[in-house]
Amino acid sequence: MKVFGDTKLCVLMGDPVEHSLSPAMQNAAFGHLNLNYAYMAFRIAIENLKDALVGAKTLNILGLNITMPLKTRVIEFLDEIDQSAQSVGAVNTVLQKNGRLIGYNTDGIGALNVLESSGTEVAHGKIVILGAGGASRAVGHALGEKAEKIIIMNRTAEKARAIVEELNRIYGEKFRHGELTARCLQEELLDADVVVNATSVGMRPHENETLIGKEFLRSDLTVFDLVYNPLKTRLLQEAEAAGAKTVDGLSMLISQGALSFEIWTGRKAPIDVMRDACIKALSNKGESENHG
Ligand code: NAP
Repeated sequence: MKVFGDTKLCVLMGDPVEHSLSPAMQNAAFGHLNLNYAYMAFRIAIENLKDALVGAKTLNILGLNITMPLKTRVIEFLDEIDQSAQSVGAVNTVLQKNGRLIGYNTDGIGALNVLESSGTEVAHGKIVILGAGGASRAVGHALGEKAEKIIIMNRTAEKARAIVEELNRIYGEKFRHGELTARCLQEELLDADVVVNATSVGMRPHENETLIGKEFLRSDLTVFDLVYNPLKTRLLQEAEAAGAKTVDGLSMLISQGALSFEIWTGRKAPIDVMRDACIKALSNKGESENHG
């Protein structure tokens, strides 16, 4: 990466950010297209967010990614909120244009894009989402526009109920909630077409864990795991062995990152380059973890 006097800067703000793949992914994309842009990550405590955004304006930072725990709080400090972020009530991408900070949300659209480009039909059939955190909510909003029957199941059922109430108010009575017990999950999966793991189960260092017994995976099911470290989770390995269609979390990460890239640069994102950079960064992380 070369940096000049007129290099345009894009940054990630969140807490923590050290694990993020976005610097590797975005800098690889800028480099590949020979764009005079650079990307850096800044750890920003929530109480410093306002100052950080004032700083971003002063320093003429062109683009921002906003990650946990700042995605909701950032809204009050922006000048304009794009429609993609309005219903979700969370922003993960900001563009500075004519001194104004404009907030977007590419998370949910990123998830929908990867599901659809895997050939999965989301408009009809039944979709089961596991988890009721920020990722589940983003996926729920994206699917709310298109799908007709969605069940959100969570270990803490109350959180699933709250999200379902919110989504049903916006998209009509398409959503149901359930408690994420093995028995309820087994019942819901019997006639499901798509299952989305939006929990952190299966994430390194607990890569041996999975919420779905392999006996419940079938070849006519699409299994989408948002966890991207490891790239091929136990759930995805077992789904593949059962002949199911699988969609990995890295594809979603890249899809939302590609949309951010396009908002900042106006250029089509080089998806393959971004994926290679992420895989390389993930394997480096694996190595440094192995070496303590
Ligand atoms: P979050 O807000 O912290 O929510 C975590 C969810 O996981 C909650 O629903 C929690 O249930 C559930 N959970 C955690 N441990 C569990 C267990 N042992 N059994 C059952 N449920 C469990 O996190 P998030 O931001 O939604 O992220 C969820 C996952 O998606 C993470 O692994 C994250 O890395 C991944 N993600 C991927 C992308 C991507 O682009 N691929 C984007 C965003 C997130 P309770 O409510 O009961 O605690």
